[in-house]
Amino acid sequence: MSTILVATEIQNGKLKSINNEVFTAAKQMAAETGHSVTGLFLGDSGLEALAEAAATYGIDHAILVESSQLAKFSPDVHAAAIAQAARQKDAAVILSGATFLSKDLMARVAQALDTGLVQDCVKFSVNGSDITFTRPMYAGKVLADVKVVSKPAMATLRSKSYKPEENPSSPTLEKLDLDLPQPQVVVEAIELASAGKMDVTEADLIVSGGRGLRGPENWHILEALAEALGAATACSRPVSDEGWRPHEEHVGQTGKTVAPDLYIAAGISGAIQHIAGISSSKYIVAINKDPEAPIFKVADYGIVGDVFEVLPRFTEEVKKLQT
Ligand code: FAD
Repeated sequence: MSTILVATEIQNGKLKSINNEVFTAAKQMAAETGHSVTGLFLGDSGLEALAEAAATYGIDHAILVESSQLAKFSPDVHAAAIAQAARQKDAAVILSGATFLSKDLMARVAQALDTGLVQDCVKFSVNGSDITFTRPMYAGKVLADVKVVSKPAMATLRSKSYKPEENPSSPTLEKLDLDLPQPQVVVEAIELASAGKMDVTEADLIVSGGRGLRGPENWHILEALAEALGAATACSRPVSDEGWRPHEEHVGQTGKTVAPDLYIAAGISGAIQHIAGISSSKYIVAINKDPEAPIFKVADYGIVGDVFEVLPRFTEEVKKLQT
Protein backbone atom coordinates (compact mmCIF):
# COMPACT_ATOMS: atom_id res chain seq x y z
CA MET A 1 0.00 0.00 0.00
CA SER A 2 1.32 3.42 -0.92
CA THR A 3 1.23 6.30 1.47
CA ILE A 4 0.33 9.98 1.67
CA LEU A 5 3.20 11.69 3.45
CA VAL A 6 2.30 14.74 5.53
CA ALA A 7 5.40 16.89 6.01
CA THR A 8 4.55 18.51 9.33
CA GLU A 9 5.53 22.03 10.27
CA ILE A 10 6.93 22.36 13.76
CA GLN A 11 7.43 25.78 15.32
CA ASN A 12 9.15 26.26 18.67
CA GLY A 13 8.77 22.54 19.45
CA LYS A 14 5.03 22.49 18.71
CA LEU A 15 2.98 21.34 15.74
CA LYS A 16 1.39 24.31 13.98
CA SER A 17 -2.38 24.00 14.00
CA ILE A 18 -2.53 23.91 10.19
CA ASN A 19 -1.06 20.38 10.40
CA ASN A 20 -4.38 19.16 11.84
CA GLU A 21 -6.15 20.44 8.73
CA VAL A 22 -3.63 18.69 6.49
CA PHE A 23 -3.99 15.40 8.44
CA THR A 24 -7.77 15.65 8.00
CA ALA A 25 -7.44 16.28 4.24
CA ALA A 26 -4.95 13.41 3.98
CA LYS A 27 -7.40 11.05 5.78
CA GLN A 28 -10.14 12.02 3.31
CA MET A 29 -7.74 11.44 0.42
CA ALA A 30 -6.70 8.10 1.93
CA ALA A 31 -10.34 6.98 2.17
CA GLU A 32 -10.74 7.59 -1.56
CA THR A 33 -7.38 6.28 -2.77
CA GLY A 34 -6.76 3.37 -0.40
CA HIS A 35 -3.40 4.90 0.63
CA SER A 36 -2.31 5.14 4.26
CA VAL A 37 -1.39 8.44 5.96
CA THR A 38 2.12 8.95 7.31
CA GLY A 39 3.13 11.93 9.42
CA LEU A 40 6.75 13.00 9.00
CA PHE A 41 8.33 14.72 12.00
CA LEU A 42 11.75 16.36 11.77
CA GLY A 43 13.72 17.72 14.71
CA ASP A 44 16.38 16.98 17.29
CA SER A 45 14.15 15.77 20.16
CA GLY A 46 10.60 15.43 21.48
CA LEU A 47 9.18 14.03 18.26
CA GLU A 48 7.27 11.11 19.91
CA ALA A 49 5.06 13.61 21.74
CA LEU A 50 4.30 15.37 18.47
CA ALA A 51 3.44 12.06 16.78
CA GLU A 52 1.11 11.31 19.70
CA ALA A 53 -0.61 14.66 19.22
CA ALA A 54 -0.98 13.92 15.51
CA ALA A 55 -2.62 10.57 16.34
CA THR A 56 -5.68 12.58 17.38
CA TYR A 57 -6.21 13.24 13.68
CA GLY A 58 -5.95 9.63 12.58
CA ILE A 59 -2.48 9.17 11.04
CA ASP A 60 -1.59 5.52 10.38
CA HIS A 61 2.19 5.85 10.63
CA ALA A 62 4.64 8.30 12.13
CA ILE A 63 8.18 8.67 10.85
CA LEU A 64 10.56 10.43 13.19
CA VAL A 65 13.82 11.81 11.88
CA GLU A 66 15.85 12.93 14.88
CA SER A 67 19.14 14.64 14.16
CA SER A 68 21.13 17.51 15.63
CA GLN A 69 21.24 18.90 12.07
CA LEU A 70 17.47 19.35 12.28
CA ALA A 71 17.57 21.25 15.58
CA LYS A 72 17.18 24.56 13.75
CA PHE A 73 15.27 25.13 10.56
CA SER A 74 17.48 24.84 7.53
CA PRO A 75 15.60 24.83 4.20
CA ASP A 76 18.22 22.70 2.44
CA VAL A 77 18.57 20.09 5.22
CA HIS A 78 14.82 19.86 5.88
CA ALA A 79 14.11 19.57 2.15
CA ALA A 80 16.69 16.78 1.83
CA ALA A 81 15.16 14.95 4.80
CA ILE A 82 11.62 15.11 3.35
CA ALA A 83 12.81 14.04 -0.11
CA GLN A 84 14.78 11.10 1.29
CA ALA A 85 11.91 9.96 3.53
CA ALA A 86 9.49 10.20 0.59
CA ARG A 87 11.80 8.08 -1.57
CA GLN A 88 12.33 5.46 1.14
CA LYS A 89 8.59 5.17 1.79
CA ASP A 90 7.70 5.39 -1.90
CA ALA A 91 5.16 8.12 -1.09
CA ALA A 92 2.36 8.54 -3.64
CA VAL A 93 1.51 12.03 -2.40
CA ILE A 94 3.25 14.63 -0.22
CA LEU A 95 1.10 17.25 1.51
CA SER A 96 1.80 20.16 3.82
CA GLY A 97 0.18 23.41 4.89
CA ALA A 98 0.52 26.39 2.56
CA THR A 99 2.42 28.55 5.05
CA PHE A 100 5.20 30.91 3.95
CA LEU A 101 7.78 28.46 5.28
CA SER A 102 6.25 25.28 3.83
CA LYS A 103 5.61 26.79 0.41
CA ASP A 104 9.32 27.57 0.12
CA LEU A 105 10.33 24.19 1.55
CA MET A 106 8.00 22.12 -0.64
CA ALA A 107 9.32 23.85 -3.78
CA ARG A 108 12.80 22.63 -2.79
CA VAL A 109 11.49 19.10 -2.14
CA ALA A 110 9.71 19.04 -5.52
CA GLN A 111 12.94 20.07 -7.18
CA ALA A 112 14.89 17.35 -5.34
CA LEU A 113 12.32 14.71 -6.33
CA ASP A 114 11.90 16.13 -9.83
CA THR A 115 8.14 16.13 -9.46
CA GLY A 116 5.18 18.50 -9.72
CA LEU A 117 3.86 20.66 -6.89
CA VAL A 118 0.53 22.50 -6.64
CA GLN A 119 0.77 25.37 -4.19
CA ASP A 120 -1.99 26.87 -2.08
CA CYS A 121 -4.77 24.39 -2.90
CA VAL A 122 -8.25 24.79 -1.48
CA LYS A 123 -9.52 21.30 -2.32
CA PHE A 124 -8.78 18.07 -4.13
CA SER A 125 -10.82 15.42 -5.90
CA VAL A 126 -9.98 11.79 -6.59
CA ASN A 127 -10.88 9.97 -9.78
CA GLY A 128 -9.47 6.44 -9.85
CA SER A 129 -5.75 6.87 -9.26
CA ASP A 130 -5.81 10.51 -10.39
CA ILE A 131 -5.86 13.30 -7.83
CA THR A 132 -6.82 16.76 -9.02
CA PHE A 133 -5.97 19.75 -6.87
CA THR A 134 -7.90 23.03 -7.07
CA ARG A 135 -6.11 26.31 -6.51
CA PRO A 136 -7.12 29.96 -6.91
CA MET A 137 -5.23 31.85 -9.64
CA TYR A 138 -5.07 35.44 -10.93
CA ALA A 139 -5.63 36.91 -7.47
CA GLY A 140 -8.55 34.55 -6.82
CA LYS A 141 -10.45 35.39 -10.03
CA VAL A 142 -10.40 31.82 -11.29
CA LEU A 143 -10.04 28.38 -9.76
CA ALA A 144 -7.69 26.07 -11.65
CA ASP A 145 -7.89 22.29 -11.47
CA VAL A 146 -4.38 20.90 -11.61
CA LYS A 147 -3.32 17.28 -11.93
CA VAL A 148 0.25 16.25 -11.14
CA VAL A 149 1.23 13.51 -13.56
CA SER A 150 4.65 12.81 -11.98
CA LYS A 151 5.10 10.89 -8.74
CA PRO A 152 4.86 11.73 -5.91
CA ALA A 153 2.13 14.33 -6.45
CA MET A 154 2.85 17.26 -4.14
CA ALA A 155 0.51 19.93 -2.83
CA THR A 156 0.35 22.57 -0.13
CA LEU A 157 -3.10 23.23 1.35
CA ARG A 158 -4.38 26.70 2.13
CA SER A 159 -5.19 27.35 5.77
CA LYS A 160 -8.86 26.72 6.73
CA SER A 161 -9.64 24.78 3.55
CA TYR A 162 -10.22 21.62 5.56
CA LYS A 163 -11.83 21.71 9.00
CA PRO A 164 -9.79 19.57 11.40
CA GLU A 165 -11.70 16.43 12.39
CA GLU A 166 -10.56 14.32 15.31
CA ASN A 167 -10.24 10.65 14.46
CA PRO A 168 -7.93 9.07 17.09
CA SER A 169 -5.55 6.35 15.93
CA SER A 170 -2.57 4.34 17.21
CA PRO A 171 0.08 5.02 14.56
CA THR A 172 3.14 2.85 14.09
CA LEU A 173 6.33 4.70 15.03
CA GLU A 174 9.48 4.41 12.99
CA LYS A 175 12.79 6.22 13.42
CA LEU A 176 14.62 6.88 10.18
CA ASP A 177 18.34 7.51 9.94
CA LEU A 178 19.00 9.72 6.96
CA ASP A 179 22.13 10.91 5.27
CA LEU A 180 21.64 14.65 5.66
CA PRO A 181 23.79 17.32 3.98
CA GLN A 182 25.62 20.08 5.82
CA PRO A 183 23.32 23.11 6.11
CA GLN A 184 24.04 26.07 3.88
CA VAL A 185 21.47 28.27 5.59
CA VAL A 186 20.23 28.02 9.17
CA VAL A 187 17.34 29.98 10.64
CA GLU A 188 18.56 30.88 14.12
CA ALA A 189 15.14 31.79 15.57
CA ILE A 190 11.60 32.45 14.48
CA GLU A 191 10.06 35.15 16.59
CA LEU A 192 6.49 36.33 16.48
CA ALA A 193 6.74 40.08 15.91
CA SER A 194 3.57 40.67 17.94
CA ALA A 195 4.10 38.22 20.75
CA GLY A 196 0.86 37.03 22.27
CA LYS A 197 -1.27 38.23 19.34
CA MET A 198 -3.39 35.90 17.29
CA ASP A 199 -1.95 34.94 13.89
CA VAL A 200 -4.36 36.18 11.19
CA THR A 201 -3.98 32.98 9.16
CA GLU A 202 -5.30 30.94 12.08
CA ALA A 203 -8.03 33.33 13.26
CA ASP A 204 -11.75 32.56 12.91
CA LEU A 205 -12.67 36.24 13.25
CA ILE A 206 -10.74 39.13 11.76
CA VAL A 207 -11.28 42.89 11.97
CA SER A 208 -9.26 44.55 9.26
CA GLY A 209 -8.58 48.20 8.54
CA GLY A 210 -7.59 50.18 5.46
CA ARG A 211 -6.57 53.70 4.57
CA GLY A 212 -10.06 54.84 5.49
CA LEU A 213 -8.92 54.81 9.13
CA ARG A 214 -6.61 57.73 8.26
CA GLY A 215 -3.72 56.88 10.58
CA PRO A 216 -2.31 54.65 13.33
CA GLU A 217 -3.67 56.97 16.03
CA ASN A 218 -7.19 55.78 15.11
CA TRP A 219 -6.48 52.06 15.28
CA HIS A 220 -7.75 51.82 18.83
CA ILE A 221 -11.34 51.94 17.56
CA LEU A 222 -10.71 48.90 15.38
CA GLU A 223 -8.81 47.13 18.19
CA ALA A 224 -11.72 47.76 20.56
CA LEU A 225 -14.07 45.86 18.23
CA ALA A 226 -11.49 43.10 17.73
CA GLU A 227 -11.12 42.73 21.48
CA ALA A 228 -14.89 42.64 22.05
CA LEU A 229 -15.25 39.91 19.39
CA GLY A 230 -12.08 38.00 20.34
CA ALA A 231 -10.84 38.65 16.81
CA ALA A 232 -7.41 39.12 15.25
CA THR A 233 -6.57 42.43 13.58
CA ALA A 234 -5.42 42.75 9.97
CA CYS A 235 -4.89 45.50 7.43
CA SER A 236 -4.52 46.40 3.76
CA ARG A 237 -1.11 46.75 2.18
CA PRO A 238 -0.80 50.56 2.14
CA VAL A 239 -1.47 50.51 5.87
CA SER A 240 1.52 48.24 6.53
CA ASP A 241 3.63 50.01 3.86
CA GLU A 242 3.00 53.27 5.71
CA GLY A 243 4.09 51.62 8.95
CA TRP A 244 0.71 52.15 10.59
CA ARG A 245 0.54 48.41 11.33
CA PRO A 246 3.13 45.61 11.39
CA HIS A 247 3.76 43.79 8.13
CA GLU A 248 2.48 40.45 9.46
CA GLU A 249 -1.05 41.90 9.56
CA HIS A 250 -0.99 42.73 5.84
CA VAL A 251 -3.53 40.62 3.96
CA GLY A 252 -3.76 40.10 0.21
CA GLN A 253 -1.91 38.98 -2.86
CA THR A 254 1.46 40.06 -1.49
CA GLY A 255 0.53 39.48 2.14
CA LYS A 256 -1.16 36.71 4.04
CA THR A 257 -4.08 34.64 2.78
CA VAL A 258 -6.81 34.34 5.36
CA ALA A 259 -9.99 32.27 5.53
CA PRO A 260 -11.85 33.22 8.71
CA ASP A 261 -15.54 32.64 9.41
CA LEU A 262 -15.96 36.42 9.57
CA TYR A 263 -13.83 39.15 7.94
CA ILE A 264 -14.80 42.71 8.77
CA ALA A 265 -13.24 45.16 6.30
CA ALA A 266 -13.31 48.71 7.64
CA GLY A 267 -12.28 51.57 5.35
CA ILE A 268 -10.88 49.15 2.76
CA SER A 269 -11.74 49.85 -0.89
CA GLY A 270 -11.62 46.19 -2.01
CA ALA A 271 -8.86 46.26 -4.62
CA ILE A 272 -8.38 42.95 -6.43
CA GLN A 273 -5.03 42.46 -4.70
CA HIS A 274 -6.71 42.71 -1.30
CA ILE A 275 -9.61 40.44 -2.27
CA ALA A 276 -7.06 37.79 -3.38
CA GLY A 277 -6.18 37.25 0.27
CA ILE A 278 -9.70 37.21 1.72
CA SER A 279 -11.89 35.48 -0.88
CA SER A 280 -11.99 32.22 1.10
CA SER A 281 -13.60 33.97 4.10
CA LYS A 282 -17.00 32.53 4.98
CA TYR A 283 -18.65 35.94 5.56
CA ILE A 284 -17.30 39.34 4.61
CA VAL A 285 -18.76 42.45 6.21
CA ALA A 286 -17.70 45.74 4.63
CA ILE A 287 -17.89 49.18 6.21
CA ASN A 288 -17.21 51.97 3.74
CA LYS A 289 -18.58 55.45 3.25
CA ASP A 290 -18.51 55.09 -0.54
CA PRO A 291 -21.49 53.00 -1.72
CA GLU A 292 -19.63 52.35 -5.01
CA ALA A 293 -16.56 50.86 -3.27
CA PRO A 294 -15.64 47.54 -4.94
CA ILE A 295 -15.52 45.79 -1.54
CA PHE A 296 -19.35 45.76 -1.59
CA LYS A 297 -19.26 43.46 -4.64
CA VAL A 298 -17.68 40.68 -2.57
CA ALA A 299 -19.23 41.50 0.80
CA ASP A 300 -22.04 39.37 2.24
CA TYR A 301 -23.15 42.33 4.37
CA GLY A 302 -22.37 45.95 3.69
CA ILE A 303 -22.65 49.04 5.86
CA VAL A 304 -22.44 52.33 3.99
CA GLY A 305 -21.15 54.66 6.65
CA ASP A 306 -18.27 56.36 8.36
CA VAL A 307 -15.93 53.93 10.18
CA PHE A 308 -15.52 56.48 12.96
CA GLU A 309 -19.22 56.21 13.71
CA VAL A 310 -19.90 52.60 12.74
CA LEU A 311 -16.98 50.85 14.50
CA PRO A 312 -17.63 52.28 18.02
CA ARG A 313 -21.34 51.57 17.62
CA PHE A 314 -20.58 48.03 16.46
CA THR A 315 -18.32 47.50 19.51
CA GLU A 316 -21.00 48.84 21.82
CA GLU A 317 -23.61 46.46 20.36
CA VAL A 318 -21.26 43.46 20.66
CA LYS A 319 -20.58 44.33 24.30
CA LYS A 320 -24.32 44.68 24.99
CA LEU A 321 -24.92 41.22 23.53
CA GLN A 322 -22.26 39.81 25.82
CA THR A 323 -23.79 41.13 29.04
P1 FAD B 1 -7.83 52.81 -0.46
O1 FAD B 1 -7.90 52.15 -1.77
O2 FAD B 1 -7.31 54.19 -0.40
O3 FAD B 1 -9.30 52.75 0.15
C1 FAD B 1 -9.70 53.38 1.30
C2 FAD B 1 -11.20 53.20 1.41
O4 FAD B 1 -11.64 53.73 2.63
C3 FAD B 1 -12.00 53.85 0.29
O5 FAD B 1 -12.85 52.90 -0.32
C4 FAD B 1 -12.80 54.93 0.99
O6 FAD B 1 -14.09 55.10 0.44
C5 FAD B 1 -12.88 54.38 2.39
N1 FAD B 1 -13.00 55.42 3.42
C6 FAD B 1 -12.29 56.56 3.55
N2 FAD B 1 -12.65 57.20 4.69
C7 FAD B 1 -13.63 56.44 5.26
C8 FAD B 1 -14.41 56.57 6.43
N3 FAD B 1 -14.24 57.62 7.28
N4 FAD B 1 -15.33 55.62 6.71
C9 FAD B 1 -15.50 54.56 5.89
N5 FAD B 1 -14.80 54.39 4.76
C10 FAD B 1 -13.86 55.32 4.45
N6 FAD B 1 -3.28 45.68 -1.30
C11 FAD B 1 -3.59 44.88 -0.27
O7 FAD B 1 -4.42 45.23 0.58
N7 FAD B 1 -2.97 43.67 -0.13
C12 FAD B 1 -2.05 43.22 -1.00
O8 FAD B 1 -1.50 42.12 -0.82
C13 FAD B 1 -1.71 44.04 -2.12
N8 FAD B 1 -0.82 43.62 -3.03
C14 FAD B 1 -0.58 44.40 -4.14
C15 FAD B 1 0.28 43.94 -5.13
C16 FAD B 1 0.50 44.71 -6.26
C17 FAD B 1 1.42 44.19 -7.31
C18 FAD B 1 -0.11 45.98 -6.39
C19 FAD B 1 0.11 46.82 -7.61
C20 FAD B 1 -0.95 46.45 -5.42
C21 FAD B 1 -1.20 45.68 -4.26
N9 FAD B 1 -2.05 46.13 -3.25
C22 FAD B 1 -2.35 45.31 -2.22
C23 FAD B 1 -2.59 47.51 -3.24
C24 FAD B 1 -4.01 47.58 -3.77
O9 FAD B 1 -4.01 47.72 -5.16
C25 FAD B 1 -4.76 48.78 -3.15
O10 FAD B 1 -4.03 49.94 -3.43
C26 FAD B 1 -4.94 48.66 -1.64
O11 FAD B 1 -5.53 47.42 -1.31
C27 FAD B 1 -5.83 49.79 -1.16
O12 FAD B 1 -5.83 49.81 0.23
P2 FAD B 1 -7.03 50.46 1.03
O13 FAD B 1 -8.29 49.81 0.61
O14 FAD B 1 -6.66 50.46 2.46
O15 FAD B 1 -6.95 51.98 0.58
